[in-house]
Amino acid sequence: MSGKASDNRVNSGQAKMPIAVLGAGCAALSLAARSNAFSSHQFTIIDPETHASDDHIWGFWAMPWLDHVTSVTRKTWHNWRIISPDLMLDLSSKTHPYCALNRHDWLTHCRQRAKDAGVTIVHSLDHLNPKQILDSRPPKSPPGALLQHFLGYEITSNHDVFSPDTAILMDFRCDQSRGVHFIYFLPFTQRRALVESTLFSTSLVSEDFYDKAIKHYLANHLGCTDYTIRRRERGVIPMARLQQRDPDLIGIGANGGAIRPSSGYAFSFIQKQIDEMSNNAKPGKPLQVKSPHSRFELMMDQIFLRVIRSQPTLAPVIFTSLARHLNGDEFACFLSGKSSMKIWLKVVFAMPTWPFLFSLLPHKTKKYREKQNTRDQNLGQNK
Ligand SMILES: Cc1cc2nc3c(=O)[nH]c(=O)nc-3n(C[C@H](O)[C@H](O)[C@H](O)COP(=O)(O)OP(=O)(O)OC[C@H]3O[C@@H](n4cnc5c(N)ncnc54)[C@H](O)[C@@H]3O)c2cc1C
Repeated sequence: MSGKASDNRVNSGQAKMPIAVLGAGCAALSLAARSNAFSSHQFTIIDPETHASDDHIWGFWAMPWLDHVTSVTRKTWHNWRIISPDLMLDLSSKTHPYCALNRHDWLTHCRQRAKDAGVTIVHSLDHLNPKQILDSRPPKSPPGALLQHFLGYEITSNHDVFSPDTAILMDFRCDQSRGVHFIYFLPFTQRRALVESTLFSTSLVSEDFYDKAIKHYLANHLGCTDYTIRRRERGVIPMARLQQRDPDLIGIGANGGAIRPSSGYAFSFIQKQIDEMSNNAKPGKPLQVKSPHSRFELMMDQIFLRVIRSQPTLAPVIFTSLARHLNGDEFACFLSGKSSMKIWLKVVFAMPTWPFLFSLLPHKTKKYREKQNTRDQNLGQNK
C-alpha cells in the first residue's frame, strides 16, 4: 500500500482502500476531483506524461448531474440549430442549454480539486500496492468501425459577423461525397467562434478536405473571409461498442463504455458514471463501474448506426426530423441519455420507417436495398 494511502483513514479508523487510476484525462481527473465523495477509497493517478492531449472543447447539455461543472463552463447557448439543404430547425431550452468547456480548463480545475483532497499524481505504479486498478487509457476500436472524425479551428474575425446567441450543431450544407458530413459551429462572441468539419465514415480524409469545407462554409454561409486561426482541434471518436484496453483491468471513461456510440458524446456520461460509482461505493469493497448507457439505448444506437452506415445520405433527414419532432428540452435529454418513454416514442416516430425496419432484417439483397433506398428517402423527406 502507498504511504499516502495508509495515512488516510475513514472515520471508523479503518484504512481507506488504495486505488490506482491509469491515465490523467477526463475520467481519471474528474473522479479524482470528486474524491471527497468516496470516503473510504484513496485515489492515486498514474500518468507517465507521455500522451499529452491538445486542448479542445467539450460540448454537452446542462443536466442536474453536471452542476459542479457550471463554474468552469466557457459559454452556454439557450438556442441551437440544425440545418439541412432544405430545412433550418431552431430549438431552445431554458433549463438545458448547450454548454462548451475547454478541456485544459476542466483538467486544471480537477487537478487542483484533487490535490486539495489529497490525491497524488505519479509517473508509474512502482512502489504502489493498490487494491484496485481502474484503467482510463483509451479503449480499442473494432476494425472497420464507423468513425466520427473532425478538424476544427477556433478563429477570431476582424469584423462582427457571428450571432453569438445560437450554436449550430449540424449544418449539412457541405460536401457529402466522403460520408455523412456536417459543420459544427459554436460562436463564442460576434468575432470568436469554433468551426469544425465533422464526418461519420469508416475511413479518414486528408486535412485538406476538412480545411476546404471550413473555409467554404465561413465564406459562403457566414460571410466571414477575414479571420485568424487561433487554435486547431482534431479528433477521431469510434462510433461503436468498444473493447476494453486491457480485459483484466476495469475501465472507466471511454474505456469504461462512456462514449455514446450514436453521437460520440462522452463528457456528460463520464460525470454520470462517476456519480454512480460514488453512490454504490462501500467501505472495504472495490469500486463498481457500470456503463452509463442502458442496454436499450445501446441496442437503439446499434440500429441507428446500421442505418447511417448503409444509407449515409439519410443523415440530414434523420437529424432534422429528430429536431422537428422533439422540443429543445426533449432533444437535450435524449442526447444526454435521460429519455422518458414519451421521448423514445417521439424519436421512433421521427425516424424514416423503412430503413429502420430493413436494418433489422438479417439478409438483404442488393436489389432490394436499392429499391428501398429510393423509397425510404422519399418517405423520410415527407415525414
Ligand atoms: C478532440 C476531441 C473532442 C471531443 N469533443 C467532445 C465533446 O464535444 N463532447 C463530448 O461529450 N465528448 C467529446 N469527446 C469525446 C470524449 O469526451 C473524450 O474523448 C474524453 O476525453 C474521454 O475521456 P477519457 O478520460 O475516457 O479519455 P481521455 O480524456 O483521452 O484520457 C485518457 C488518458 O489516458 C492517457 N494515456 C493514453 N495512453 C496512455 C498510455 N499508454 N499509458 C498511460 N496513459 C495513457 C492520456 O494521456 C489521457 O490522460 C471528444 C474527444 C476528442 C478526442
